Amino acid sequence: MSSEFIPYGRQVIDQADIDAVVEVLKGDWLTTGPAVDAFEVEFASYVGAGEAVAVSNGTAALHLCMLAAGIGPGDEVIVPALTFVASANAARFVGADVVFADVDEEDLTIDVGHVASLVTARTKAIVAVDFAGLPCRLDELLAIAHQHGIALIEDACHAPGAIYRGRRVGSIATMTAFSFHPVKHMTTGEGGMVTTNDPALAGRVRMLRNHGIDADFRHRESAGTWEYDMVELGYNYRLPDLNCALGLSQLRRADERLKRRRELVAAYNDRLAEVEELRLPVEPDGRQSAWHLYPVRVGGPDAARRRTAVFQSLRRANIGVNVHYKPVHLHTYYAQLGHRKGECPVAEAAYDGLLSLPMWAGLTDEAQARVVNEIDKALQEAGT
Ligand SMILES: *Cc1c(COP(=O)(O)O)cnc(C)c1O
Repeated sequence: MSSEFIPYGRQVIDQADIDAVVEVLKGDWLTTGPAVDAFEVEFASYVGAGEAVAVSNGTAALHLCMLAAGIGPGDEVIVPALTFVASANAARFVGADVVFADVDEEDLTIDVGHVASLVTARTKAIVAVDFAGLPCRLDELLAIAHQHGIALIEDACHAPGAIYRGRRVGSIATMTAFSFHPVKHMTTGEGGMVTTNDPALAGRVRMLRNHGIDADFRHRESAGTWEYDMVELGYNYRLPDLNCALGLSQLRRADERLKRRRELVAAYNDRLAEVEELRLPVEPDGRQSAWHLYPVRVGGPDAARRRTAVFQSLRRANIGVNVHYKPVHLHTYYAQLGHRKGECPVAEAAYDGLLSLPMWAGLTDEAQARVVNEIDKALQEAGT
């Protein structure tokens, strides 16, 4: 009982991170200064994108993608049912209707065949969520998007560093959104990024994150003018220099920490392979996951009851397991918009068995061994 709590995910902060933030505190720019540009340039280069725009969080990144793509009332946006609510909410912010697509039974990313069948004359974008860090079938989704002249907005909040057919995600879709919340791969406290290869879209995102004003204060200062022009209704979605300095420092450790996640995945795969009741996450050919989550599925007809029993035993053993996700269309807000159980049967069935095991770069081998032992015990207690 006295054993230490193991969270399902958390940040790793080292002395270099602390020094980077302190350095900004001593300087002239707390926000919208040189650390923003530096973080954007390095992040763009990390994912292989032409442009990166830092914003206040991943939800703001998705919102600005919707606005930059020109989506509004009367439009439809296709979103997978198995994701965090923000993936769908971004479409609602701009007044569009969410059309939920089911997920693939094997890998739990958006079901491409279902997406193709859902496109109508009103569809303006497909949101591709790289569930747990696994890139979606991006080529097939891009083909659908191109065929209909619509945007592919990738929600890669789980997936910085993930590789699709030799390329990092962030360089492939029309626009890609990332999050730097502390449970994600790298953190800025709160923060997000939009990446794209389209300079016009990047320009729109840049303007909309700063009230819809055409140039920021620092650029006005250096141009020696007070004059600014607000050309469109925008927001304050800026990411401060303090946060960007932390992000830049975290980014320099990103590959090392991704490697640690892969080691943990290999150990889970190895130790849980024999456990018949559990279905382990997959990594199909050509798609390398960034392993934000390690989601297992408790199988069988009584999955929901047994999953919940296992969840409770693990929590009692001080292990911070979690469930990702309750399908978005089942939330009260979306039910009130007319969405119903039965709309996405694969996501609904998967939800019954899903359980996310601890997965973060600071998880030690000893802690992971404790998780595996407790899972064995919990499954026995849950019965068959
Ligand atoms: C975390 C997350 C978001 C939102 O990011 P925030 O930075 O918390 O706003 C959006 N989509 C997915 C899939 C996420 O996991």
